[in-house]
Amino acid sequence: MELFDSHAHIDFPRYNKDRNKVIDRARAEGVRYILNCGADLESSQRAVKLAQEFDDIFAAVGIHPHEGSTYNLEAAKKLQDLAGSEEVVAFGEIGLDYHYDNSPRDEQRQAFRAQLRLASSLELPVIIHSREAEEDTIKILKEEWDPEDGGVVHCYSSSAEMAKKLLDLNFHIGFTGLITFKNLEWLRRIVSNTPINKILVETDSPYMSPEPYRGRRNEPARVKEVAMQVAKCHNLTMDKVAEITTQNGLDLFKIN
Ligand SMILES: [Zn+2]
Ligand SMILES: [Zn+2]
Repeated sequence: MELFDSHAHIDFPRYNKDRNKVIDRARAEGVRYILNCGADLESSQRAVKLAQEFDDIFAAVGIHPHEGSTYNLEAAKKLQDLAGSEEVVAFGEIGLDYHYDNSPRDEQRQAFRAQLRLASSLELPVIIHSREAEEDTIKILKEEWDPEDGGVVHCYSSSAEMAKKLLDLNFHIGFTGLITFKNLEWLRRIVSNTPINKILVETDSPYMSPEPYRGRRNEPARVKEVAMQVAKCHNLTMDKVAEITTQNGLDLFKIN
């Protein structure tokens, strides 16, 4: 069995003491690939470095909506340089977060639009973070993004209507440990209604630990719990879900 954790942040300092063990545990659980995403310039740099160090880790670079107000021409230049590394297979995570509003919304929207254009010019698929911003996310994607370039909306927790609109725009949907939470039956229904060939599994480590690890630091090994839940929702074997979702990730991120 080979799993693909399509979204993790194991470059974060929270893993400085035991990063190699975390990676070893993932391998022991059958995690064959990890995509480590950038959240700001610094973590994008660390993501690339990590991917250069480990054959089974790939990198995405980009500025998270929380840091949207730090996006400027200089940052764009640096991201572009980083994206030149062969380990970079996607641009992200980028998007809109109106839950925390850590950056003013108009600046989030500007950074999101600019980075979609940059990703497109670099011919990279995008990794989208969208929280409580359904309308603007869809509007901006329709205006700025060519569906053929592909992408994923990660840590899905929005409505069934939004999921349908994203599928129509050729997006993949990334599911985390959230789908294992007892009270989120509505989210499992969205999993069931998403075609299996459009699903990616992810941990979003260090966040979103699945049951029974809820509340603790997450790690890529636990993508297995997410895949198990997808298997239940689609009435498939775990092996089949691992095979399909891993292939989905390899195809989307053009990894051979
Ligand atoms: Zn995110
Ligand atoms: Zn993330």
